[in-house]
Amino acid sequence: MPQPTDTLQRPLRDLRISVTDRCNFRCTYCMPKGVFGRDYKFLPRDQLLTFEEITLVATAAARLGVNKIRITGGEPLMRAGLPDLVSMLAPIDGIEDLTMTTNGSILARKAEELAEAGLSRVSVSLDSIDDATFREMNDVDFGVAGVLEGIEAAAAAGLGPVKINAVVKRGLNDHGIVELAGHFRNTGHIVRFIEYMDVGTTNGWRLDDVVSADEIHRAISAEFPLEPVEAAYHGEVATRYRYVDGSGEIGIIASVTAPFCGDCTRLRLSAEGSAYTCLFASAGSDLRALIRSGADDDSIAKALTTIWEGRSDRYSEQRAEGTAGWERIEMSYIGG
Ligand code: SAM
Ligand code: SF4
Ligand code: SF4
Repeated sequence: MPQPTDTLQRPLRDLRISVTDRCNFRCTYCMPKGVFGRDYKFLPRDQLLTFEEITLVATAAARLGVNKIRITGGEPLMRAGLPDLVSMLAPIDGIEDLTMTTNGSILARKAEELAEAGLSRVSVSLDSIDDATFREMNDVDFGVAGVLEGIEAAAAAGLGPVKINAVVKRGLNDHGIVELAGHFRNTGHIVRFIEYMDVGTTNGWRLDDVVSADEIHRAISAEFPLEPVEAAYHGEVATRYRYVDGSGEIGIIASVTAPFCGDCTRLRLSAEGSAYTCLFASAGSDLRALIRSGADDDSIAKALTTIWEGRSDRYSEQRAEGTAGWERIEMSYIGG
């Protein structure tokens, strides 16, 4: 099957699969309690794609050039039986890298099973190594120790090196950037600092809250001198640096101040089976109806080709140019 390119000549290489819109955290920048409270209506179970349906989409996507799959959410480990999905995705022809992004809260219990099922690596989100700050950010009073346990269990199960994702928000956790970096020196894990983004419409994003990649780099290198590292592959989103003294590596993801839409090869599948061609899309294309009408691999591949060939998204570049401004889907729905 021919491999599609979009209207900006970008190929399709990555598939991000959200397996649930639920989460046991209420990170203030992602699922603020005021919006995602007791009365919030999450998707009912029968509206979620089954593992078989997800595998059908992933298989079709692999035929079109996807070689990397990331499982995300919501919190992916909240989805019952997730290792079963991993074992269905891992053997798909063409998939070289199968990873998951998790908040790490229940990873310690699951790491071994996930590794055995065929997961390649995990990214664990941890915004601060300071317990009080972290509890405030996840807003459910979950302590740092539980996440560190998850990270160690993942490394022990062979899911490392673990990437540690930290969203930096001014006035909230920016004072702890150096401490967080320092904690993971000499561990083999790689902290990746992420500029706070205007995903969704509920987190009250303001440009002033963004701590720029430059600022993050300056703060860390003042304490622990850094030097650049070549990107591991074309289209890598994080700019990589290593500590001059050999104590490890970090990444900085400058989605706001240095957008990388030109290299964006990612398609996102929501938990209810809609395909989104951008993290900041306002609408997706429903694949669930097609799947449930009995479509086979070929028809799904054709639908994905049409979706991809029509793609012109470059939201972050437009934000930088000041030309973006539309309703966006929530990150907890579409996955990171
Ligand atoms: N629950 C899992 C977790 O937290 O790792 C997976 C889903 S979460 C939506 C995926 C990633 O998106 C996390 O690393 C999270 O920190 C990041 N994220 C969420 N909201 C963000 C925002 N407004 N700006 C930047 N990153 C964000
Ligand atoms: Fe949950 Fe992840 Fe969003 Fe935090 S960032 S609320 S852990 S989905
Ligand atoms: Fe890709 Fe959209 Fe992000 Fe640009 S803004 S890098 S097109 S997901």
